[in-house]
Amino acid sequence: MKKEILYIVVPCYNEEAVLEETTKQLKKKMEYLVKNGLISDESRVMYVNDGSNDKTWKLIEDISNKEKYFTGLSLSRNRGHQNALLAGLMTAKEYADIIISMDADLQDDINAIDEMLKKYYDGSEIVYGVRSARKKDTWFKRTTAESFYKFMSMMGVDIVFNHADYRLTSKNVLEHLEEFNEVNLFLRGIFPLIGYKTAIVYYERNERFAGVSKYPLKKMLNFAWDGITSFSVKPIRFILSFGIVFTILSFISLIVFIILNLVKLKTLSIGTLISLICFLSGLQTIFIGIIGEYIGKTYNETKRRPRFIISKNLNEDK
Ligand code: UDP
Ligand code: MG
Repeated sequence: MKKEILYIVVPCYNEEAVLEETTKQLKKKMEYLVKNGLISDESRVMYVNDGSNDKTWKLIEDISNKEKYFTGLSLSRNRGHQNALLAGLMTAKEYADIIISMDADLQDDINAIDEMLKKYYDGSEIVYGVRSARKKDTWFKRTTAESFYKFMSMMGVDIVFNHADYRLTSKNVLEHLEEFNEVNLFLRGIFPLIGYKTAIVYYERNERFAGVSKYPLKKMLNFAWDGITSFSVKPIRFILSFGIVFTILSFISLIVFIILNLVKLKTLSIGTLISLICFLSGLQTIFIGIIGEYIGKTYNETKRRPRFIISKNLNEDK
């Protein structure tokens, strides 16, 4: 049987603190997988430098020179996790049969790779890594993250609960991913749309062993909002439903006030009227903002700007 070539794609943004340890652990894993005949000797770990401004790229170059199973890619500037990952996936699929994506901080248990490969060899083309428990996450991270998945489902986005971007995909699936041209990238929403046989592997998520999270609350909220507005028009539908309900209510209240006036009972005070007007104009402004967000997205999509620019591919030099 021909052994499959595996590429592990790892986006790195200012990860000088973790690269050495990550390399040590992934090297062991690669050697083990090759030795046991699970993957080809041509398999590689591909670090993607996402425009870091610390020593990350220098480290990646050194590792790539020294270590057989390691290679690297550098983007021309920082483009964010999703775009860096996409750059890695699109490049890796040219060399590999199987591609796994994971973070540089090894929060995702690399021992899940064995089971992922097993599911792949059993016929699955996408294997999602799913966090079984989030015991080691802080209460805040766990609650916000889990609410995020629930809210996404409520908004009608088809995503795998508690799955981030730790996943195995076949080359075939990535060929299809290439046909999704969106600039507002939310990868974990796209893969379920591609289809094919999928499987899930559960793992325990660890703490980041060094360095700091590159996803502070503000970025997380942006990411969630991006995910919703890129995959669902439910917020716009909600505005429409709200408008309809409010129109009906206003009509009923109009009739009530006319009757009250006819029987000469005291009606609304001016204070209530002002609050009501302010409340409604506030609401309308928010709604226009939400619709504006969708228009802004459409504007960005129509420009069709490249999602990443690769300035260096060490695989080509090797
Ligand atoms: N990352 C990236 N570009 C960015 C931000 C993050 O490539 O602009 C990478 C980062 O190096 C890491 C992964 O994305 O490999 C996930 O980031 P992090 O671990 O900081 O996020 P968290 O696990 O805290 O959500
Ligand atoms: Mg992390």
